[in-house]
Amino acid sequence: MADVLEEIPRSVMPTYARIPVAFVRGEGSYVYDSNGKRYLDGLTGIAVCGLGHAHPKIADAIARQASTLTHTSNLYRIPEQERLANRLTKIAGMDNVFFCNSGAEANEATIKIARLYGHSRNVDAPHIVVADGSFHGRTMATLTATGNRKVQAGFEPLLGGFVRAPYNDVESVEKIAANDKNVVAVLVEPILGEGGIVIPDDGYLEALRDICDRHGWLLMLDEVQTGNGRTGRYFAYQHTAIVPDVVATAKGLGNGVPIGACLARGEAAKMLVAGTHGSTFGGNFLVCAAANAVVDELTDGGIIDRAAELGERMLARFSERLAGNNRVKEIRGKGLMLAVELNEPCAELVGAAVDAGLLINVAADTVVRLLPPLNMSDDDADSMVDQVVDLIDAMPGDAP
Ligand SMILES: *Cc1c(COP(=O)(O)O)cnc(C)c1O
Repeated sequence: MADVLEEIPRSVMPTYARIPVAFVRGEGSYVYDSNGKRYLDGLTGIAVCGLGHAHPKIADAIARQASTLTHTSNLYRIPEQERLANRLTKIAGMDNVFFCNSGAEANEATIKIARLYGHSRNVDAPHIVVADGSFHGRTMATLTATGNRKVQAGFEPLLGGFVRAPYNDVESVEKIAANDKNVVAVLVEPILGEGGIVIPDDGYLEALRDICDRHGWLLMLDEVQTGNGRTGRYFAYQHTAIVPDVVATAKGLGNGVPIGACLARGEAAKMLVAGTHGSTFGGNFLVCAAANAVVDELTDGGIIDRAAELGERMLARFSERLAGNNRVKEIRGKGLMLAVELNEPCAELVGAAVDAGLLINVAADTVVRLLPPLNMSDDDADSMVDQVVDLIDAMPGDAP
């Protein structure tokens, strides 16, 4: 493998099984290692650098802000934050927003809103419906909400107050509604990201909205991965006519600086007030300047429509090139959240891709997951598809 470094020092907690390559710089859809080898980035730091690496306008915004003022705390007004709040709430159709530093924190805020909302309706032990296969983060509340035992194992006792339903199963949520009078909210991803790019049936979010309306529950969407243009709309729910009560987002919002946001409207927007929640770093000058530059790019240049087109283009090319391939179970995606699900585990493709100069990810053991830059060229999109197809073709052994 290119650019193998010395062993990772034991001073770093081994929370990640790292691929032994370090990149030294990036530009647009590419990153480079210290040998000058170039890698086409099909992962963008897990849906973070959606506008590519070292984007000149974002770099400029960060540099300007860094040399002006980075942080004063939320004890004072932060005009960059207020401007970002105005813009995001308008885009999302929400009333207000709380800024934090990560996706998990954005979801923590949704969970705290749901609990306060429950108590405001005299539900002493409020329950939140969450889905199998979901991923919401690594804090105690969000790992409890996560529908994956591997994320939870060893951290018991988990939190109370979560009820689980299969993803994409409206009937099971109706059953919960009939039996559990403590439910006050539903928290789901519009598309399962870490769970393997699972796209629910048309009408799923609408049906959840309807159940929430009938029972006075909050519909809370985890758009940490799907937000900020990734699926071909600013937020994935904007492919539908529904509006949720609460939206969590993060990853692509800062294009690499750590920022998360929890947006809310209506009753949900009235829950978090002085003394109930906070963050020292959340929404500081630096990250908000970066995020404002990201929002400029996402809303001005037609990039999100372009991401939708590129996604169609890549899906079509995958379908053509993988037609009749016995290894392939399903090709799916929305915008630039793309998956090729195989009939066999394929984790080794990640390393083979690095050797070939491509960054991809494998989710849920058998799903090649692509989260490429929203602004890449047609040629890069085509070449990414071709490289993934070649890697699948080169897998050892016969197709199962
Ligand atoms: C990545 C992710 C999170 C967690 O975000 P962090 O920034 O790692 O805390 C939560 N929800 C979804 C859907 C994600 O993809």
